[in-house]
Amino acid sequence: MFEYAPAPESRDIVDIKPSYGLFINGEFVDGHGESFKSINPASEETLAEIACAAPQDVDRAVHAARQAYDAVWSGLPGRERAKYLFRIARIIQERSRELAVLESIDNGKPIRESRDVDLPLVAAHFFYYAGWADKLAYAGFRRSPTDGAGGGADPRPIGVAGQVIPWNFPLLMLAWKIAPALACGNTVVLKPAETTPLTALAFADICRQADLPPGVVNIITGAGETGQALVAHPDVDKVAFTGSTDVGRQIARSVARTGKRLTLELGGKAANVIFDDAPLDQAIEGIVNGIFFNQGHVCCAGSRLLVQESVAEELLGRLKSRMATLRIGDPLDKNTDIGAINSAAQLEKIRMLSEIGEREGAARWSPPCELPSRGFWFAPTLFTDVAQSHRIAREEIFGPVLSVLTFRTPAEAVEKANNTPYGLSAGVWTEKGSRILWMAERLRAGVVWANTFNKFDPAAPFGGYKESGFGREGGRHGLAAYLDV
Ligand code: NAP
Ligand code: MG
Repeated sequence: MFEYAPAPESRDIVDIKPSYGLFINGEFVDGHGESFKSINPASEETLAEIACAAPQDVDRAVHAARQAYDAVWSGLPGRERAKYLFRIARIIQERSRELAVLESIDNGKPIRESRDVDLPLVAAHFFYYAGWADKLAYAGFRRSPTDGAGGGADPRPIGVAGQVIPWNFPLLMLAWKIAPALACGNTVVLKPAETTPLTALAFADICRQADLPPGVVNIITGAGETGQALVAHPDVDKVAFTGSTDVGRQIARSVARTGKRLTLELGGKAANVIFDDAPLDQAIEGIVNGIFFNQGHVCCAGSRLLVQESVAEELLGRLKSRMATLRIGDPLDKNTDIGAINSAAQLEKIRMLSEIGEREGAARWSPPCELPSRGFWFAPTLFTDVAQSHRIAREEIFGPVLSVLTFRTPAEAVEKANNTPYGLSAGVWTEKGSRILWMAERLRAGVVWANTFNKFDPAAPFGGYKESGFGREGGRHGLAAYLDV
């Protein structure tokens, strides 16, 4: 075996300030809450002191968004809004190396992913929705008949959007929220996650660079309480949330009977189904990408592997060999496959559920690998002898942990795949096109990938069934969440 020489990406390209304020009405201002620190999960080093938005700051941000909506943004023709979005997309491309390094430092994800997946998708999302801004009248939506103007083919924006996002894809989730909202003529107040605020704050700077009118985008940092105050604010017209099912439930309760629009993108426990006629080497790559991409911090991760019994032994042997080649360590090293777990709390949750897996009788396996002494790390892990009743087969672990179950017939595969309260995504691996269609018809999941996994495109709608939430992000469908239709 050859040794790999270290190949770290330079962090000189990013300039992290010692402290950051809240971005309200085009300016960075102090917050009235108690400031907190964002750390690098790979080293536990403190990166910056971050302002925390108290209720009066949330109020100020919503007020700024309302003013910008009334005075400027909602009245701009779509082609003018498009120019700003195209400008933002181009600046993201120009600054993509800086943003990728910053994302990897603040979040712990490998630079290979932030550089080659997150950032290209972020820019693509802004380009895609920039293209819709002047074509909303042709998107096939009718204006709501309750709208003052009394219906028609030209749908109107909703108003001020309050958006709360998680830490697993900080800048990408921001793009999924902000791009369609602005394209449709809404203004936004967005709260990034407490552990990963830095790229959202860099995006605030990009808004200034793009001369976006003040107040159209406001970024308020803080913890869960700030998010709670934002979604409960009476002058917010639309709430969009991505995160855990528990918090999603709380938000649904808070928004009920207020007339606010709501979309929720919550957890998942996706089945990745391998039939005996699947190209096994490709399937192995798909399984690895499905569960070890982004340390498994992926709501649509293929965390339940369903393998047809006749090929299970062979597949698991090959999967273990492949897992032994995964490189864990410095997220900024270009050879790293698996970076750091995002936080001490998330690491604790992954450890706890994995221990429960062992106690409930599943067999645990990890390749030999050395973990760095500082920071938060978890070796890629495989569980076999898993029963459907085990917690590791039912609950979202949100880490690099794969639970393997087997099946004999396609009908059994469907039954097991759907035996979950979630329904965000699924994967099917088979040589037969007819079987792909047969499965896709029966799997209760928002996205079904065939002979691939974790593929994203701004033109494709993404969203859940059941406890994975409702509403779609991306594509033409994603416009509906931000239009009064
Ligand atoms: P979370 O608690 O749902 O956090 C998501 C966002 O909501 C964060 O910005 C969070 O702020 C904020 N928030 C927390 N409580 C809130 C409340 N009561 N009202 C409004 N906003 C609130 O998720 P998490 O703690 O980061 O992760 C927990 C689990 O959620 C994970 O283990 C995983 O199972 C799941 N998860 C799913 C996704 C997904 O993409 N579907 C993403 C992340 C996590 P703070 O972060 O500042 O507390
Ligand atoms: Mg951080």
